[in-house]
Amino acid sequence: MKLTSIHRRDFNRLALAGCLAGLACKRADAAPEMARSVMVHSHIFIEHQDPMKTPEETDPLRRYDYDSILRAVRPKLEAVMALGCRRFLECTSPWFGRAPALMKRLAEDTGMDIWICTGLRGTAKHRYLPRYAFEESDRQLADRWIREIREGIGGIRARFIKLGIDGGINGAYEGRLAEIDQKLLRAAVITVKETGVTLACHTGDKGHAKITFAEILALLQRERMPLDRFVVVHAQHEEDFAWHEEIVRAGCWIEFDGIGRMVDWTAEAVASLAGKGLLHRVLVSEDRPVCMAKSVRAGVFPEQPDYRPYLRIYEEFLPKLQPAWRRQLMIENPVAAFGD
Ligand SMILES: [Zn+2]
Repeated sequence: MKLTSIHRRDFNRLALAGCLAGLACKRADAAPEMARSVMVHSHIFIEHQDPMKTPEETDPLRRYDYDSILRAVRPKLEAVMALGCRRFLECTSPWFGRAPALMKRLAEDTGMDIWICTGLRGTAKHRYLPRYAFEESDRQLADRWIREIREGIGGIRARFIKLGIDGGINGAYEGRLAEIDQKLLRAAVITVKETGVTLACHTGDKGHAKITFAEILALLQRERMPLDRFVVVHAQHEEDFAWHEEIVRAGCWIEFDGIGRMVDWTAEAVASLAGKGLLHRVLVSEDRPVCMAKSVRAGVFPEQPDYRPYLRIYEEFLPKLQPAWRRQLMIENPVAAFGD
């Protein structure tokens, strides 16, 4: 499948021409084609936190100066919004820096529609899991997540589930998913069935993502999970186009979220799926933080003008694709996968 090759300069010139034609040159107007686009995998604030602490104890609003965070975040989000992005799905799990009340304030102050997630992060040898994850049943965990979806947390509702499942330890696959990982997945299935939200799931790093995905898929099929509510994130960890096809043909969504580092390769992977008529289940994004807690502590933001997260998708990746593919990947598929 042939890629169109609009050069980045031409893309910017077209956007500028739109502005000169009398449009108010701000936010989505600069790139009308991508107006209302969605970043399906993003991180606004990240901090590795001690799972023995309570959400109140880890709440950034209680520990950091809000204006410092806003100063760091606002220019980065406004730059993406100027290219047409309207929504960030904030994939940061609890104790990895999830901050519902902070996201609510940032959404109000920047105009970005920020969706937070529920769920837990089982990767890194389960070191970021709280004690209740081990003690409670799948039903009890699901009840916690359903409450965050229906009633909200910190004044904002969770809109999707994010799990980190990693069948491998230090690069070596141990043979089967740990009991705790199986429980997290079963809790997610209960939550999906009762709320209709979508599960986005990390399936392991390079070298064991395939086998971990196979085990996760088998469990989800046993539990009768609606697979069109299941997103396989970080699919770029395995550069195997045949495996990508297998994921989509199984009925799942596939997500390439390493575009910040892999522009050309991702364009090829997307083209491969499009050539097989499978673009309707493909998502793209960039898995990078807008702001790290340690940077706020050190006061280095916003003095990092060269750090431009989430812009390469618009400026370098999308211009490589056919216009219809761009709309499908950035506007239609995100809504089909996660709702609106
Ligand atoms: Zn991520």
